[in-house]
Parts: sequence; structure tokens; C-alpha cells
Amino acid sequence: MLKLPVYLDNNATTPCDPRVLEAMLPFFTAHFGNAASRSHAYGWAAEEAVKTAREQVAALIGAVPEEIVFTSGATEADNLALKGVVEMYAAKGRHIITCETEHKAVLDTCRHLEKQGVAVTYLKAGHDGLIDLSALEAAITDQTILVSVMYANNETGVIQPVRAISDIARKHGVLMMTDAAQALGKIPVDVQRDGIDLMAVSAHKLYGPKGVGALYVRRKNPRVKVTAQMDGGGHERGMRSGTLNVPAIVGFGKACELARQEMTAEAARLTILRDKLEKGLLELEETSVNGATAPRLPHVTNISFKYAGGEGLMTGFSRDLAVSSGSACTSASMEPSHVLTGMGIPDDLAHSSLRFALGRFTTEEEIDFAIRTVRESVNNLREMSPLGGF
Ligand SMILES: *Cc1c(COP(=O)(O)O)cnc(C)c1O
Repeated sequence: MLKLPVYLDNNATTPCDPRVLEAMLPFFTAHFGNAASRSHAYGWAAEEAVKTAREQVAALIGAVPEEIVFTSGATEADNLALKGVVEMYAAKGRHIITCETEHKAVLDTCRHLEKQGVAVTYLKAGHDGLIDLSALEAAITDQTILVSVMYANNETGVIQPVRAISDIARKHGVLMMTDAAQALGKIPVDVQRDGIDLMAVSAHKLYGPKGVGALYVRRKNPRVKVTAQMDGGGHERGMRSGTLNVPAIVGFGKACELARQEMTAEAARLTILRDKLEKGLLELEETSVNGATAPRLPHVTNISFKYAGGEGLMTGFSRDLAVSSGSACTSASMEPSHVLTGMGIPDDLAHSSLRFALGRFTTEEEIDFAIRTVRESVNNLREMSPLGGF
């Protein structure tokens, strides 16, 4: 028997892997020490556990442990990177470049910085979801201090050409930052190979706990600095004060270790299931995959079902399937996803889109069920639709 609703929303969050939970548990009770307590064994045990976790996170991204700054998640890491670089390099310039299809953690931070007089260029994405490299290079001025382009998109799974982007940034003496919350643990990410200077990641997107993440800050070639956005105690080499969340950090480390061991096999298995899901749904007419021609994460597909409004679709099967639609709730109304409209997809088609994100615990039986459920629901909606006539 399937457990309903079938969970295909692993880009919103993933369940904690039981092995991660098991690693975390002793650090709530037996080993409850403060990692900053230098004077006794309780502190030393916590500090040792954090050291191991820092090594595990660093190992997954080709960094050294001293380059990992633990935060409360990717949102905080994005804030620290963008605001911290703007403050630290104020004398060098006041211009940053990002992309329209970024996560709100980046876009809203950029809006905040604009109110403080920072100039921000928002690059457009092409229909495939990729940024235009020549537009990026053309946008760089002598005021530019940072380029921030996400590694892989949370709604479409589209993977940006990170190395080509960092090459351009480096050529002009500009720092390159990337939000890799969706890429980490799903595809190989390597800060050396990819030329990344700052990178935001989050544990709960790779089967770790919520409320913990990290900012990678390059230490060599070049040595990057960010101004702390939180004062008090000078933890994390002065970049992020606050008592470390030891159990969560231990879980994050374990999640990274598991990803390093299992990512290749997991990606291969999920590619097969994702492709089966896509094939099954594309048998419906007037159905298309968003970002289909770009490199994409192995476990994600974003599909538009013309003449079948996403909300109607979702309510039709909300007891059976947990997925996300191409609409975002704002205070007043349903807005089409800025990622899809940013790729030039019309509003009505964005509203008729669903994001399926498979995960470590997704089974083939669940995919077969999802195909049947969505097909039935789309067909029902289209029969009722005045535009449909299918
Ligand atoms: C989930 C996500 C975030 C936010 O991460 P939190 O740890 O939940 O704050 C930021 N960026 C991207 C691309 C994400 O997918």
C-alpha cells in the first residue's frame, strides 16, 4: 500500500534520513555541551563533533574546513554573502549582478540592498532558463564587486554554467557567489573546479535537518572576506556569531557524508524514475517540460499542462500527491512563478505548471501512481474547460 499523499516535493524540503537523525540524537542529551566552552569535557565533545561535521561538509564541496561558516540555512547564507560582500568591499564598488530567476532569498536581499543605494543588474534567463554569458560580461562595470547566480534552480532544476560564469567574473576581478541549496548532494559541486568564491547551502535539501546550512567563503586565490551581519561572540571566525546548533550541525555533516557516498548511484536511479514520469505525462497532448533543453538536476521536472489550471489540478489530487504548482501565494493573490515568467512562459501556462521533485525515498510504484493520478486529473479538467475540447 502506498502512503498518501505521495511526496514529490523534495525541492521544498526532504525528510531527514534516519541515519542522520541517529547521528544527531546524542547531541541533544548526553553530549549537550556548548562548542565554545573551552574549559571542560562537555565543550570539547561538542567542539570535536562540530569539527568532524565541518570536515564532512567541506569534503563534499572540495573546500577546506576553515572555509565553512555554519548558518541557520541557505537564506541566512545568501544574506550574509550579499550584504557581507557589499559592506566589506564598499570602497571597491557598489554594483552587483544577479539573475531574475534566483530564489527569493537572493532577490529580496538584492531589493533590500537597492534601497541602500547599491546598484543591482538582474540578468534575464533565456527560454531554456539559462543566463546569457555575453549579457553577463557586458553588465560588468568598474563598480561591480559580485556576480551571484544560482547553481541549480529550485523550480525547474536547470543547472547554470557555473564554471563559465566564474571565469568571466574572475577575468574582471569580480567575486562569484552561487546559491547551491538545490545542487548540493544531487550533482557534483566543487568550489575549486567551479571557481566559486562564496556558496550558500542548506541541510534540509539533502536529507539533513531544517534550520542549519552554511556559507562557503574562499580563503585563498583570492582570500574573500564578508562583514558579519550578526554581532556577539565572534563565532565562526568572526563571520557569524551565535552558539552553534551542535545537533543540527552534526546532522548536516552526516547528510553530506551520505551524499558523497551515495550521490552517483542515487542520481542514476532518480534519472530513470524522473524520465519515466516525464514520458508518462508527455503522452498527454499540449504538455511540455520547462527547461527541457538545458542541463537539469536528475530528480526534478517542471511540466506545463495547457488548459489545465495548476490550482484546479492541485486541488483535484491534493489527497493523493504532494507537489508544487507554478503559482506563488502573495498576500493578495496567486502570482505566476517568477522563475517561469522569467523564462518567457506566459502567465496562464505558468499557472498550469507543476513541479515534481523526486527524492531518496521515492519508489517506482509511487511514480506509476503519480502518472495515473496526474493524467486523470488533467483529462478531467480539460473536459470541463471551455478552451480544451480534448
Ligand atoms: C530552499 C532554498 C533556499 C532557502 O534555504 P533555507 O535553508 O530554507 O533558508 C535558498 N535557495 C534555494 C535555491 C533553495 O532551494
